[in-house]
Amino acid sequence: MAEEHQKEVVDETVDVKDLDAWRGIWIYGEVHDGELEGVALELLHAARPLADALETELGAVLLGSGVKRHAETLIAHGADNVYVVDHPELANYRTEVYHEALYQLIVRYKPEIMLFGSTANGKDLASAIATDLETGLTADTTMLGVNKEERLLEASRPAFGGNIMATILCKKHRPQMATVRPRVMRAGEPDVTRQGKINEESVTFSSQNLLKTIIETVKESSGDSGLETADIVVAFGKGVGDQRGLEMVQALAGVLGAAVGASRDVVEMGLIGREHQVGQTGVTVMPKIYIAIGISGAVQHLVGMQNSGTIIAINTDPEAPIMKIAHYAVVADAYALLPKLTASLNEALKEVKRDVLTV
Ligand SMILES: Cc1cc2nc3c(=O)[nH]c(=O)nc-3n(C[C@H](O)[C@H](O)[C@H](O)COP(=O)(O)OP(=O)(O)OC[C@H]3O[C@@H](n4cnc5c(N)ncnc54)[C@H](O)[C@@H]3O)c2cc1C
Repeated sequence: MAEEHQKEVVDETVDVKDLDAWRGIWIYGEVHDGELEGVALELLHAARPLADALETELGAVLLGSGVKRHAETLIAHGADNVYVVDHPELANYRTEVYHEALYQLIVRYKPEIMLFGSTANGKDLASAIATDLETGLTADTTMLGVNKEERLLEASRPAFGGNIMATILCKKHRPQMATVRPRVMRAGEPDVTRQGKINEESVTFSSQNLLKTIIETVKESSGDSGLETADIVVAFGKGVGDQRGLEMVQALAGVLGAAVGASRDVVEMGLIGREHQVGQTGVTVMPKIYIAIGISGAVQHLVGMQNSGTIIAINTDPEAPIMKIAHYAVVADAYALLPKLTASLNEALKEVKRDVLTV
């Protein structure tokens, strides 16, 4: 059955072990609800220097219906080539048809590296492609590099419970594949004068992949912590891990108009919902200001917030790891500091609002 499926899907042969046949770095330009996912631009920014180091093209793939309009954005953010499959069958994400379209493009052009955002659909698609091509896939990468001499992707991620950073190589198969979580890397500024090529591609869908029809999409209303879009995050950990600590943190967040984040330990203590957890097994955030209160800064927490604009840590221990990466490290007992800080910020912000009103 599996063999029949392969024959119907692919009419081109592919040798994943003929390493020299594969050239170029591609990113998957995921489109969700008609809009380009921010992670696509983050991938381009991360991959551009890698493509330059390998002296190869940086390509981006757009799959969907009515998605060609995003090609210029991808070029402005660093793509040399955009490969577009604009097809009504791709209007809604379904593993079978997306997989079939991308598989055909990969076999046609043979990129040596293929990167995806670690979104629900990105992970689904990447794993389906890696399985079919029998190649390696590194999930939730936090750092990307290349070994120029051997043309190897160096995909790094926390391993063994976050105690080490492992750099994973895929030496014998192509393409080398990795997923990267949204907001772990930064997007660059667009350059609208950049020139690139838009390649409109055709693919064929096998009849068995067209059997499923999406009748309706119902969005699950899960608790939204607002973390992913907040400009300011006030996060707390076990150092203030009790009801009083939570209330102090909520008061500070209220004054600043911030979202509340948490370490895993306080989530597991039942103080706050899992949707507030920042880190490797929680949400990745990149706010303008991240205030970490009573959080030690375990690597599993750091991978979820270390790219924040300004990091302020409040901790009784000056040697805590979070204090080393903080732009402002405040050595203080948070129970003593927070009520005063919240009250004075409240006053100061009232002044600002009054000034704005009287101007
Ligand atoms: C596979 C795996 C995945 C994980 N995923 C995550 C994840 O996604 N997110 C996450 O956060 N963790 C995660 N963890 C857990 C992580 O390893 C740490 O255990 C956790 O982050 C520690 O939480 P904490 O900083 O709140 O507590 P602690 O490490 O106990 O730190 C408490 C800090 O509070 C300070 N403190 C104490 N009293 C005060 C006070 N009065 N005022 C100010 N500071 C004070 C202390 O000096 C200390 O630095 C994961 C672990 C594993 C193994």
